Amino acid sequence: LECVKLGQKLSNCIRKLTNYRRFAFAVAESNIPRLKQFLSVGLRNGASPHKLMNMLADALEGNAPAPNACPSTDSRAINITLMTYILSGRKLLYALSHANGLPSLRTLRNHMAFTRIMPTIGTISLSDILHNIQEVVLKPHTAAERTTLHGVNLMVDEVALEERAVHFRHNNSVGGLCWRHSPLINLVFSTYDSTLALVKSLKETSVHFAKEMTVVAASCFGESGTYPILALPTCKHVKAADSCTIYEVVMDAWRTCGAVAKVGRIRRWSTDGDMICRVSGYEAFLSQKLSSTGTSRVIHGTLAGMVGLNLWTGPEDVTLNFNVKHIFKRKSPF
Ligand SMILES: [Zn+2]
Repeated sequence: LECVKLGQKLSNCIRKLTNYRRFAFAVAESNIPRLKQFLSVGLRNGASPHKLMNMLADALEGNAPAPNACPSTDSRAINITLMTYILSGRKLLYALSHANGLPSLRTLRNHMAFTRIMPTIGTISLSDILHNIQEVVLKPHTAAERTTLHGVNLMVDEVALEERAVHFRHNNSVGGLCWRHSPLINLVFSTYDSTLALVKSLKETSVHFAKEMTVVAASCFGESGTYPILALPTCKHVKAADSCTIYEVVMDAWRTCGAVAKVGRIRRWSTDGDMICRVSGYEAFLSQKLSSTGTSRVIHGTLAGMVGLNLWTGPEDVTLNFNVKHIFKRKSPF
């Protein structure tokens, strides 16, 4: 009888050692997402070592159901949640949160600060840019108690946009139409007839769905990060003069809101590399030579002696630059 009991004990010990070895090898050789979460949920539910091993095996094969309690909030899970929310919206995030244990939208909001910028509806507007500078640039600067002034680089580029109209509830207007031609129609859903007139204009192509979003962002020399201050739906029929209008209105907004005194002066515009932007860039920022008087006299004394250096600038000595991405794209053999 003693021999039988000893045999059973030895058998249990060997099985436990085997489990331990399997567990150690599994953990050592694989990157199992949310391992700690799997184990803690299993232990909380009173799972046996065998059950835990089976859960681990399922996790290794990638077909484990996600624990439905305490979703993981590590940086990887937060990044996946953010990507899901941005690409597919809150409905898919809700579904994945329940099905796969992703953090919820509320958890995401607790882990990061969301910045909301006001997209332009209709033609370019000073008030929209003022609102965005206030929300995106000045408030974070004030909250972080940053007082050092920096030179500011304004960058402009386009991102592809899905061609469709969007209803904005806060002003009962239609967005998603190009800024250049939308002043021709009434964008507010005021009457049934005004809605029909909008549809008719779209059919007659006197007004267009925006194909791109022109985005202007500010960055400070010596600081990381960019601050988007303009989101302007654009069609493919804009001209260089329209781009010059964008430069002027944004610079006017920067001066008007007091950002020069709180953040710094605009020193440079970095534009896109396409033909329209190149023409508008040359017209706007190669219009006058660096002056030997006034605020630029100090730097003029240094730069004037450099043979071959381009001393042409725009208003307030703003210089022209091109987005490095487009320079590399143009020069790259690939
Ligand atoms: Zn248009």
